Amino acid sequence: MIDKNKQNILIAAAIQARREAYAPYSHFYVGAALLTKDNEIVTGINMESSSYGLSVCAERNTIATAIGKGKRDFEAMAIVSQGGVTPCGACRQVIFDICGNIDIILADEEGKIREITNTKALLPNAFGDKNLA
Ligand SMILES: [Zn+2]
Repeated sequence: MIDKNKQNILIAAAIQARREAYAPYSHFYVGAALLTKDNEIVTGINMESSSYGLSVCAERNTIATAIGKGKRDFEAMAIVSQGGVTPCGACRQVIFDICGNIDIILADEEGKIREITNTKALLPNAFGDKNLA
């Protein structure tokens, strides 16, 4: 598991990112911060659409941003939301596909850690590239 110092840095980055979350319909604001293995932090937010199904979660936006920056190896993600909720099913799949089994820190809007888990725990027996071989 990533050390306490890195946890705190990631949570702070996710809190900062969350300020720009775009959620005019649900008012459920989420910020995420993804730590790369070369020690960079990529952040993202959820972004809603008036056509609700087109909304994209903070976790997947963050991963897409990181991939767009050429990042491929990841260590941990912090997700900050009201109550420190767990990622939705779609995000669990994408985290598994792109990041593998990383630590996932779930913190509330004050930055208080609600749970530290990992991809394997959130998506056991996952479907993945091995199934497409
Ligand atoms: Zn999601």
